[in-house]
Amino acid sequence: NDEQFKNVISHAKEYGFVFQSSEIYDGLSAVYDYGQLGAELKNNIKTYWWKAMVQMHENIVGIDSAIFMHPKVWKASGHVDGFNDPMIDNKDSKKRYRADQLLEDKIARYEKDGKTEKAAKLQADMDAALTAEDLPRLKVLIEEHEIACPVSGTKNWTDVRQFNLMFSTQFGAMAEGSDEVYLRPETAQGIFVNFLNVQKSGRMKIPFGIAQIGKAFRNEVIARQFIMRMREFEQMEMQFFVRPGEDKKWFAYWKEARLKWHKALGTSPDKYRFHDHVKLAHYANAATDIEFEFPFGFKEVEGIHSRTDFDLTQHQEYSGKKMQYFDNDLDENGKPYGNYVPYVIETSIGLDRMFLLTMINAFEEEDLSTPEKQDSRTLLRLHPALAPIKVAIFPLTKKDGLPEKAREIMDHLKFDFNCVYEEKDAIGKRYRRMDAIGTPFCVTVDHQTLEDNTVTIRHRDTMEQQRIEIKELHTIIEGKVSW
Ligand code: ATP
Repeated sequence: NDEQFKNVISHAKEYGFVFQSSEIYDGLSAVYDYGQLGAELKNNIKTYWWKAMVQMHENIVGIDSAIFMHPKVWKASGHVDGFNDPMIDNKDSKKRYRADQLLEDKIARYEKDGKTEKAAKLQADMDAALTAEDLPRLKVLIEEHEIACPVSGTKNWTDVRQFNLMFSTQFGAMAEGSDEVYLRPETAQGIFVNFLNVQKSGRMKIPFGIAQIGKAFRNEVIARQFIMRMREFEQMEMQFFVRPGEDKKWFAYWKEARLKWHKALGTSPDKYRFHDHVKLAHYANAATDIEFEFPFGFKEVEGIHSRTDFDLTQHQEYSGKKMQYFDNDLDENGKPYGNYVPYVIETSIGLDRMFLLTMINAFEEEDLSTPEKQDSRTLLRLHPALAPIKVAIFPLTKKDGLPEKAREIMDHLKFDFNCVYEEKDAIGKRYRRMDAIGTPFCVTVDHQTLEDNTVTIRHRDTMEQQRIEIKELHTIIEGKVSW
């Protein structure tokens, strides 16, 4: 599994999906750039989400709020005081770790060794310490369970301290006297502060949702596993505003709706599971994660949280502005529901994690060996709607007017589909390159094409080739790549 994950990472680099940021300067830790194909795939994932959430729901609209927000936003949201990780340093290696992560690793170790009782006990002790924010207790647990630094191998630890995950910067031209602002650690707050702007200008009636896609920044201390945990990443979030008392119903609805969205991409259902939170954040009355089985285990890709009226009430308090909605629908006693602060169900998915999931799920090294000959190919079995390139057009040879004919077909298709044209190398090699980047269709123009206007279309997954008329191409491709 480690091997498979390594292969995905090097494949992503080799074909222009993901590069390390500032690579020529040896990179910047936990920051990545998307290359020419990665940018396309990422856009297609965004489109799939936006269409499913905004276009398909009459009562959900999308916004694009700024990354910078008033500093008070983060006081109101609780991030200034509470967005912390408990950290511990090893005095010998000078390496810093998340205390809870060290304990989690130990729990996993116990489980692997069949010490299930010990694992359960440590889990319970850790949960209790985290809930009580009892930092000295976390250190005691690390010592009691004889956890050593993975680098130095020693057990020489500092005390556990809280470490805030927000990045801050100076706002305005003069550093002196100007305010400190934060890079947003989540996109949600941009939605909450615009709740009434959108509701009034869009004449939205509860229940309704506001969606957005955008960058978020967290000074993650343990940054690892490629684009799984980054310091600059992108979220796709939707906040759904409901009548108080109807939150549980909508939480259940969004839980199922979001899992359906994942499964509609054709991923094997047993790769997904829910992980319901037992220990809830202070603002939530229910929460679940949608987890995917990565090569390194089941991990969260998306969170669905029932956030009560916490955020809007907090902003009402800190801003002094009413965050209420007037509901003139009638309740069971025939009276209008009247004014209230709505309850919120949030769905929050990491775009980069979804990207990684998509790459891992699509990556395959297929054995094509026959008794006569050893052979294999690397391919990305991407859903055609997500594939960066939809169709590749190849003239069989570089002469006899075949390139011109191939260009003519491309000029027609490129209005609707992302196409590439390629005339170099043997045809088999060209097919394999397209397999490796997940292109669902290759179209080959040969001498027969000039006589009867037919081409061969080759299907990525089956490698099957069909002879069809040029005028059928558009419909065949569209049938597979459209949403
Ligand atoms: P984790 O427990 O993995 O740190 P979280 O519970 O803090 O995640 P949320 O605050 O619920 O995450 O954020 C919603 C989603 O944003 C996550 O499900 C994940 O997909 C994504 N996400 C969060 N932090 C990062 C990060 N550092 N890098 C990439 N994606 C992230």
